[in-house]
Amino acid sequence: MSTASAYLSVRGIDIDVVYKDIKNLHIGVYPPLGRVRVAAPERLDDDQVRLAVIQRLPWIKRQREQLKTAPRQTAREMITGESHYVWGLRKRLKVVERPGHTHFEIDGDRLVLYTPRDTTAEQRRTALDRWHRQQLREALPAVISAWEQALEVSVPKWTIRRMKTKWGLCNRESRHLWFNVELAKKHPDCLEYIVVHEMTHYFERNHGVRFTKLMDKYLPDWRSRRDQLNGSPLAEETW
Ligand SMILES: [Zn+2]
Repeated sequence: MSTASAYLSVRGIDIDVVYKDIKNLHIGVYPPLGRVRVAAPERLDDDQVRLAVIQRLPWIKRQREQLKTAPRQTAREMITGESHYVWGLRKRLKVVERPGHTHFEIDGDRLVLYTPRDTTAEQRRTALDRWHRQQLREALPAVISAWEQALEVSVPKWTIRRMKTKWGLCNRESRHLWFNVELAKKHPDCLEYIVVHEMTHYFERNHGVRFTKLMDKYLPDWRSRRDQLNGSPLAEETW
C-alpha cells in the first residue's frame, strides 16, 4: 500500500500528515515534545486536513500544554535500580558512592555513577545531562561529516542544546544546526534522521512536498526513524 505524507504548519505548530486507506481522520499528540501527527483518509487533501486541524486546535493546544506542565518523567532520584536510556538501550543505574569526581561509565547493561556520598539528586541529574551531551558531542562529528559528503554541503557550526519542543533546528542563513540533548537517549538511527532532516533544510525551508521528496531520496526509511523517535501518542482523537 502506498502512503502519501505531508508536513503542514498550522498557526506555528508543525503537523505531520499521513494519508491512509482509513475512514476517519485521526489526530495524535506525542510525547515528549508534543509532536502532532494526523492520519487522514485518502479522499481528503491538504487544505481539508488543515481546516480539520484548525477546528481541533484548542484540543491540540490543551494536550501540548499538559505535556509541558506534566511532571517530567525524567525528574529522577538518581538512585540504584532506576532505568535510564542511552542510545535507545535501557540501562540500569548503579550508584557507587566514593570520594573523587562525579562521572558515569557504561558496564554492560548498567550505567554506573561514581559520585561522593553527599552529592544531591539535582547534582547527579546535572552530571547525567553533561554526560549525555558528551555522548552526542562524540557521536555527531562522524554522522555530520558522512552527510556533508553525501549531500555535498558543509555544516559550519553545530550546537547541543536542551529544547522543549524540537529535536533539531536549522538556521538557513548561517547554516548553524542545533540538536536536542535528549537525542542521546534515543537509538543512533534517530540522531542520523535529525541530522539529515536539518541538513535538508539547507535545500528547502518548508516541510512541503519537495522536502518530503528530498528526504525520501536521502533517507528512504526516515518515516520509521521518526516514529521510533516520537514513540506512542500521549493523546489521540478520532472523528
Ligand atoms: Zn524541519
